[in-house]
Amino acid sequence: MSKGHVLVVEDNLDNYELVRTILEIAGYDSFLAVNGRDGVEAARKQKPDLILMDMSLPEMNGWDATKRIRDDPQTAHIPMVALTAHTLPRERKRALDAGVDAYLSKPFDAYQFIQLVESTLEDFKGRLIAKKE
Ligand code: MN
Repeated sequence: MSKGHVLVVEDNLDNYELVRTILEIAGYDSFLAVNGRDGVEAARKQKPDLILMDMSLPEMNGWDATKRIRDDPQTAHIPMVALTAHTLPRERKRALDAGVDAYLSKPFDAYQFIQLVESTLEDFKGRLIAKKE
């Protein structure tokens, strides 16, 4: 049984293959959107448990796609992690300001990556429980 469905918004298919493989080994299934516009659409239709967002994307960049996902009540709550080659502190802030919950710079190692996926999902579950109480 899958531990969760992860939407990966990524235009580099080699990066997606790597992410998909690590997620699969860790028990998650994933699906791909190759640009920001499709990412927003897939978030709305597929209701993923987590979104991994590249920032440099065709059609609509990751910052704008993140804002759209956050602005739509149907998708606003979905936890999001930015996976990006933009490593400067101000780039990190720009992604967090757009609405991602966490940020990981490429290249990353598999262990670091899966730790962040799991902690982001745990934080999210924690928030849901807190809301119900
Ligand atoms: Mn890219």
